[in-house]
Formats: sequence, structure tokens, C-alpha cells
Amino acid sequence: MDCIFCKIINNEIPSYTIYEDDVVKVFLDIEPMAPGHTLIIPKKHYKNLEDIDMETLTHINKVAKDMYKLLKEKLNIDGISIVQNNGCVQDVLHYHMHLKPYYNENNGINVEEVFNILKN
Ligand code: 5GP
Ligand code: ZN
Repeated sequence: MDCIFCKIINNEIPSYTIYEDDVVKVFLDIEPMAPGHTLIIPKKHYKNLEDIDMETLTHINKVAKDMYKLLKEKLNIDGISIVQNNGCVQDVLHYHMHLKPYYNENNGINVEEVFNILKN
């Protein structure tokens, strides 16, 4: 299947992966809305909220909670929005949850710098 996120899962396309387990992969968005903009995706291909199962969704939410803690501790974010697009607002047709950090003062660090902070 010609899916960019499946290619990221199979490491055919590189990514700044900050966490993975049997069910999910978590990596930094290539065009971050703010430093630390993170995507959580299931390793199995689901298109979006319509076809993903509850067990996987529950796991994704658990990982989101852990990632929020990580981003808060390591990047000193002041807030976070969790967004998951479907239908006409969804560009990549492989389920993904966005974690979009907010800062009272933007620290201006780039994706690679964020990755090095989160991996240490
Ligand atoms: P959506 O489908 O919810 O509109 O957003 C897709 C998101 O995936 C965008 O924020 C975009 O920057 C991100 N994205 C698209 N292609 C890649 C990629 O190859 N690598 C990474 N890390 N992010 C990507
Ligand atoms: Zn896919």
C-alpha cells in the first residue's frame, strides 16, 4: 500500500521517533506547528476514526498521556492541544493523533534539537 505513514513504520522513510511499542509509533511532525509537535500512529494501517478499533484507541490515549508528561518535563510546554483529523480535513489517510504544544514564549528550537532533548 502506498501509505507514507506505513513507510515510516517500516523505516523506509526516516523519522524522529521518540517512542514505539508493538502497537504504536510516536514521532515528530515534519512541519511542526510548534517545537515538539508530535504524531502518534498505530502500526496497523487504519484510515481514521471510522475503522480503528477501541482497544487500539485506548492504547493511543494512554500513550498520549505519557507523551504529554514527557513533553511537559523536557520541553517546558505550557499547554497542549490534541487533534485528530478525519474526512476532508485529513491529509494523510493513516490514523494519526496530533499533540500540538503551546508555549507562553516560543523557544524557537527546530525538529532535530527537539529530538535530541527528548531522547536524552
Ligand atoms: P493531517 O492529515 O492531520 O492534516 O496531518 C498530517 C500531518 O503529517 C501534517 O502535520 C504533516 O506535517 C505530517 N507529515 C506528513 N508527511 C510527513 C512525513 O513524511 N514525516 C513526518 N514526520 N510528518 C509528516
Ligand atoms: Zn498506512
